[in-house]
Amino acid sequence: MIKSKKLYEGKAKIIYNTNEKGLLIQHFKDDATAFNALKKTNIEGKGVLNNRISEYLLSSLAQCGIQTHLIKRLNMREQLIKEAKIIPVEFIVRNIATGSLTKRLGISEGTVLDKPLLEYYLKNDELGDPLISKEHIFSFEWATEEEIRIIDKISLRINDILQGIFRGVGIKLVDFKIEYGRIWNINKEITEIILVDEISPDTCRLWDVKTDRKLDKDRFRKDLGNLIEAYQEVARRLGIMPEETNISEVNFGKTASIKFKKK
Ligand code: C5P
Repeated sequence: MIKSKKLYEGKAKIIYNTNEKGLLIQHFKDDATAFNALKKTNIEGKGVLNNRISEYLLSSLAQCGIQTHLIKRLNMREQLIKEAKIIPVEFIVRNIATGSLTKRLGISEGTVLDKPLLEYYLKNDELGDPLISKEHIFSFEWATEEEIRIIDKISLRINDILQGIFRGVGIKLVDFKIEYGRIWNINKEITEIILVDEISPDTCRLWDVKTDRKLDKDRFRKDLGNLIEAYQEVARRLGIMPEETNISEVNFGKTASIKFKKK
């Protein structure tokens, strides 16, 4: 397996081509961004932790029959993944109201939802990933009705499995973002939906069951500090990084204020 050219660089990851057809390498960077990259910094060790945590969560989902793009972790920062045609929608599942849900609709912070709430956002940085309805997805053919029916079902199942995993280690899964892609089935007759991207404290809200301490990227968004310590805590509780690591906290106090991009 030889890593070849860079295909895409996002805010937290880089995708490389390989010399094997249909296989790519996903590299986890240390960059942290929030508010559509208006706030950004570099937090040493974040990529390594997200690589390990995401590998663990996607493998656990695969064991429960969820198809994912992950083939295997290659090293500290890289995973071998299946190439998929990405559906341009971010799928958000919420169990407790916080973040943009409370801001947009005035729902009280911390309200436990009667049942998981599914939301759809267009993957478009220039537009700031706007909230969209299923009808937008169908009208503009971002996915078919059948695909969304399948995705909704898988997303709820993923929520059940992840809630169980986290609850078992004293963590509430408040909400999370997932993405899906299409791959050809074995006979190349139809496409199948698979889970892509990552699931990590960058893409989930994780609160300690007893104290509600935030163990996720909100520590960066809200300038709470100790982000690496929180991600390590998640990894340690999941039993994937029991050994002491040499990753230490980096002070990102200087980047606290939001700098607006020059037009
Ligand atoms: O900001 P909001 O409340 O809509 O975020 C809901 C969930 O989706 C959070 O767990 C957040 O980390 C995640 N998210 C993400 N990437 C985005 C938007 C939200 O991982 N672009």
